[in-house]
Amino acid sequence: MREVLRALLDLQEVDREIYRVKEELRRLPRERDKRRAEIEAKRARLGETESELRLGKVKLKELEDLATQQRQRMRKLETESMASRQDAASVAAFQHEIRSVKKEISEAEEESLRLMEAAEAQEKVAVPIRAEIEAEQKIYEEFLANAEKEAAVAKKKLDALQAQRKSRGVDQIQPDILRAYEQTLELRDGLALAELDNRICQGCYINVPPNVYVRLARGVELVRCQSCDRILFLRD
Ligand SMILES: [Zn+2]
Repeated sequence: MREVLRALLDLQEVDREIYRVKEELRRLPRERDKRRAEIEAKRARLGETESELRLGKVKLKELEDLATQQRQRMRKLETESMASRQDAASVAAFQHEIRSVKKEISEAEEESLRLMEAAEAQEKVAVPIRAEIEAEQKIYEEFLANAEKEAAVAKKKLDALQAQRKSRGVDQIQPDILRAYEQTLELRDGLALAELDNRICQGCYINVPPNVYVRLARGVELVRCQSCDRILFLRD
């Protein structure tokens, strides 16, 4: 069993590095997606503000057209009122209608003003978001270029490590032991073996019961830490 543990320790040295490189290769796309999602979220926010701005402009144009029509109508009413000034009842009716048209015009003007103020406020919101998106997009593109280079370096390194792993006598380890070791490697962040030093597991720093030490010292079986499940070994 000591031979097996020595072989596993040898392997662990390379595997720890392999795990680190793989972790880096997993991190890069995660980081890329996170950054892209942040920019997309800002774009969506900007899109909402811009569509409100467009809607406001359409509404404003409608109100302006309405006010123009009402002004024309008012001038027509005034002319008609002048023409019928002999008829007091008619004049009163015209004046009444003129007042109500005036009121509509002033309401449209107030609403236009309100819309213009709202548009100004929305524009104030949109300007910094546009600037942020532009700046972040630039940073994101730099990140992408760097990440591509980093990934290429990491992949090369990974290939070299995999080759190195083969030369470390991985074929000489019993398949079931190798499988158990590799499973622990994945579960325990690239560190499947832990030294038992003074009855303390150096993987999780828990004191193991005496029988664990006894079994390990006997050297006939693989002994795991009961707390972190790592394969224990004793330093020669
Ligand atoms: Zn442990």
